[in-house]
Amino acid sequence: MSDYNKDDIKNTEDEPKYEDVCYMCRRPESKTGRMLHIPNMNNMCICIDCMERSFRVMDGSNYADLMQGMNIQDLFPGGMNMDDMMNVQNQIPKRQKLKKKAKDDEKVQPEFDIKNIPAPHILKAKLDEYVIGQDRAKKAIAVAVYNHYKRVATNTMDDIEIEKSNILMIGPTGCGKTYLVKTLARLLDVPLAITDATSLTEAGYIGDDIESVVSKLLAAADNDTERAERGIIFIDEIDKIAKKKNTTARDVSGESVQQGLLKLLEGSEVEVPVGATSKNAMVPLVTIDTRNILFICGGAFPDLENIVKERLTSHSSIGFSAELKDKYDQDRNIVSKVTIDDLRAFGMIPEFIGRLPITVTLEGLNRDMMVRILKEPKNAILRQYQKLLALDEVDLRFDDEALGVIADKAIAKKTGARALRSIIEEFMLDIMYEIPKDDNIGTVTITKAYIEGKGSPMITMRGTPALPDSPLANN
Ligand code: ADP
Repeated sequence: MSDYNKDDIKNTEDEPKYEDVCYMCRRPESKTGRMLHIPNMNNMCICIDCMERSFRVMDGSNYADLMQGMNIQDLFPGGMNMDDMMNVQNQIPKRQKLKKKAKDDEKVQPEFDIKNIPAPHILKAKLDEYVIGQDRAKKAIAVAVYNHYKRVATNTMDDIEIEKSNILMIGPTGCGKTYLVKTLARLLDVPLAITDATSLTEAGYIGDDIESVVSKLLAAADNDTERAERGIIFIDEIDKIAKKKNTTARDVSGESVQQGLLKLLEGSEVEVPVGATSKNAMVPLVTIDTRNILFICGGAFPDLENIVKERLTSHSSIGFSAELKDKYDQDRNIVSKVTIDDLRAFGMIPEFIGRLPITVTLEGLNRDMMVRILKEPKNAILRQYQKLLALDEVDLRFDDEALGVIADKAIAKKTGARALRSIIEEFMLDIMYEIPKDDNIGTVTITKAYIEGKGSPMITMRGTPALPDSPLANN
């Protein structure tokens, strides 16, 4: 029945091993099990699951009955040489490298099991190890995610009809929105797709179809439909699809995209192409149910604070309370008082906001938070450099004052914590270049003067009395 030959998969240790990929579902042989090879069609491979599904569609027959005593020529009399009719071979997936299975001790164990999701406070404690500050947001997200996966695991969605807990995240750029979602997905070991709302347009216009966000998730789940259906989709820059004001032209990338997203957010079955982002005749499709997919939409919503401020002060512009007008000017967290009406005024349509029942606001990062981001997270940027230099047996230290100056520089750039890395990379370049030259260097301390360009780092040679422990040393 098949010309599948075990020798095709090379077994020598140093050579890469290859495996076939199913033409229909694009899953590799290691996932699907044995495949059917169709020699007349450029050795196209189809997995048993897809074959069975096709037969069921054809006449409701059972695959096993049909296959009894048949070979491929019986199934496709007259041969299947359709290559000339349509350029099938271009669509046939190439054999792909067999992914190396991690040895048991190499495997990164997921922190949590979504089938047995831990209580929100445990989730939040884990997030605390990576994300600095944003306590309210972490709390709200931990509760939302707990409720969501509890419902998915117990499958109580149908009988109780609890609303989906999709999340809207509002916060200035670089304050950790994407990072929070990424960390969450990693801890839960669920697939995550991150898309930009600005690239989406109404179907038929230039840009990505709205359903392409689901294809991305499917790809992130290695084309495993079941895993994808429990994943997370993060749509960034959601504020950019606000209704365009004062326009008479059709709003294909704004309001229409919000409309298009409605059914996905709510939960519906969508047909998405496998292994591609756009549908066309030759790309196989699978149906994905978005009911259990957690949607998180994030955006900076510039000017939203003015809308909130205006609403809050308009109530108090008459009589005694008129003096309150500038009361909110100093309030850095004014956006946390946002309501559905404010979002509507911003340009989001009510049905869209209605499908994101949980609104989470993140605060802009202050100097103190920036310093903590530099040194506290498990994968903090300073620790990464320390580790690198530790390989050369050099102890890298940072003065607290120096960290403060780095934070000030980052705040001035107004791109949030994103600026930290570029600033550090800039002055670490010389250090990383010079230090390995001299084997006698034992400790390098980055000082405020060095960051400000007024001095050089403090260097201690091996054999000199040890410096007191650096504040980072025990973290
Ligand atoms: P945005 O809010 O624009 O999505 P990101 O989440 O992409 O910003 O943040 C950019 C980078 O800054 C992240 O990769 C992360 O390293 C760092 N970062 C931002 N906020 C935090 C935070 N609260 N805690 C730790 N790291 C952060």
